[in-house]
Amino acid sequence: MREDSYIQQGLRRGMVEKLRQGGITDEAVLRAMTEVPRHWFIGIALDAYAYEDRALQIDCDQTISRPSTVAMQSQLLALKPNMKVLEIGTGSGYQTAVLCRMGAQVFTIERQKGLFDKTTRVLKECGYRAKCFLGDGYQGLAGSYDRIIVTCGAPEIPQTLMGQLKTGGIMVIPLGEGEEQEMMRITKEGPEHEEWKVEKFGTYSFVPMLDGDARVKR
Ligand code: SAH
Repeated sequence: MREDSYIQQGLRRGMVEKLRQGGITDEAVLRAMTEVPRHWFIGIALDAYAYEDRALQIDCDQTISRPSTVAMQSQLLALKPNMKVLEIGTGSGYQTAVLCRMGAQVFTIERQKGLFDKTTRVLKECGYRAKCFLGDGYQGLAGSYDRIIVTCGAPEIPQTLMGQLKTGGIMVIPLGEGEEQEMMRITKEGPEHEEWKVEKFGTYSFVPMLDGDARVKR
């Protein structure tokens, strides 16, 4: 088992208190983020910054999202226990672990083999039972999901993913090319394109959702 010291637990409670002050109200999100040790998902060199509201470098030139972003995306999902959630962009696995802790059945896709290998192992060692896949998030994963969360900046709403969302389901996705994205929540009210309800939740900055499968490109 990895270490989770009283100091780290204390820092984490402080982080969660700030999230609460910052407007996060979903108690299930706040509880999960109190319980999941974020430092387990960060390289030891950056461990000291784990409970600051910062994005940090992880392997393969990617970043772990800021705690406030993880909290916001998790809250926007309006999760209920046992829901099937598809995550695009496993990265460090921290968001994945938070969703697992909230009682979701999580399926997560990462296109970078280095991150996929490492994070699959970390999640397992830490006891989070997500199903991890190496592949292209634009293709999603065969099946139908109650919720879809995209944790990289998408230039447009991937139609394949909308097809994998159940009617009544919710997709949370940062939309936009370049430095900034708009956080969108799309509720699929019916099977047709016009039956989507779209809500916007402010500006964020994500690494881009890249096309294709890194296994093929490199
Ligand atoms: N939730 C993660 C976010 C990591 S950054 C965390 O907090 O750690 C976003 C991740 O999306 C990166 O790891 C990147 O490699 C991945 N990604 C980008 N485009 C993708 C695609 N098309 N399919 C799957 N993963 C993708």
